[in-house]
Amino acid sequence: MTQPVYVFNDDARYFVVNYHTLGDQDKKAHLATLWKTFNRYDPALGQTYKIWYRPTSPELEVSVDYLLPPKSPAGRYRIETFIPAKNSNSRKAIFSITHNLYQVNGQTNEENALVVVDMLDLKDVWHTLGEFYLDPSLGAAIGRVRQYDLSLEDPPVEVSFGPVRWVPLFTLTGKRARFDSPVGTLPERNASFPAGRVIFGKYPIWVGSWFDANPFLTWYFNGYHTGSDLNLPGSSQADQGKEIFSIGDGTVTYAGKAGTWGNIIVIEHPDALVRLPDGRSRRQKVYSRYGHVDDRIQVRRGQEVSRGTLVGYIGLAANATAGWHLHFDICYTDLLGTRPSHWPNMEIIRAIRMSAGSNNPRAYEGSKAAIMREVVSNYVDPFRFIQDNHG
Ligand SMILES: [Zn+2]
Repeated sequence: MTQPVYVFNDDARYFVVNYHTLGDQDKKAHLATLWKTFNRYDPALGQTYKIWYRPTSPELEVSVDYLLPPKSPAGRYRIETFIPAKNSNSRKAIFSITHNLYQVNGQTNEENALVVVDMLDLKDVWHTLGEFYLDPSLGAAIGRVRQYDLSLEDPPVEVSFGPVRWVPLFTLTGKRARFDSPVGTLPERNASFPAGRVIFGKYPIWVGSWFDANPFLTWYFNGYHTGSDLNLPGSSQADQGKEIFSIGDGTVTYAGKAGTWGNIIVIEHPDALVRLPDGRSRRQKVYSRYGHVDDRIQVRRGQEVSRGTLVGYIGLAANATAGWHLHFDICYTDLLGTRPSHWPNMEIIRAIRMSAGSNNPRAYEGSKAAIMREVVSNYVDPFRFIQDNHG
């Protein structure tokens, strides 16, 4: 993991002030006089830097660019700006972040994310403007944070400017993260994946004798399966109480009760290789989810875990209908970060069950297709995922 990249307001290479005066030099000179600054010592950084501030404006007069140094490696970054406790009380400070460039008819277009920050309640904090995958080789504008004096606040208040830092979550020069099966003994999880066998004629063996009784996108009574159901052969109790491990390094974003699931654990992993539905592969953040965990949960929200950390033991769903197994899935959007117990539209699934075999087969197939879309736009095949990332 490389260090954060900082741009301070005295660095003329990467800090640029733009005056939007349409060539009116008197106006530009006046706008330039409105800047004020003060020094701040950052104890974590062991360094003093300048904070700039100025009055907000009802129209666009000034913008400031913080440029990501072009030699920065491609990867996923969290972009942050420092908001001081004083001279910074705009409730509508506007930032625009350029995170992609694309060509249309020979013209280069910027893809920008607009972020509005309420500075009033933020005091002496590095504030996150968002997380972005940035590839500086696409052009000098990639990663640029542009901040405006425009806020429409009347009467004007004060808006502070920077500094800005880009915190690498992973970079492509870094060593790739590795992921293992969530079940199995240590030697089994360390062995090559998958085991390369099937059981009962069709169910793939993951590691040891653990098999997936309900592979990704199987159509069953709860809709299209979002992941895999990991089981040991034998009676339903064969996997009761068996250990569950974090598949990779990450941070726990949820651990606890979740309705009919029983308990679930969700872990965010910053760097993984994901095969998108259109066939492209890219490195990005994913969430792993462990469902039907018993009450002996070993981790808590916010905890950092490593590959192989014991997180819990296999239990039952709250209604105990399905027998002991680990439901395991991989989400490649932010969905499980915000909705840890997400399941594709159960109302449609219930309606489908009611209408199955009824006289409206087109509505039935249409509803199935909608659920399929919801699954593949958020989840990938966990078997394929571990195979691609086991390394
Ligand atoms: Zn399941």
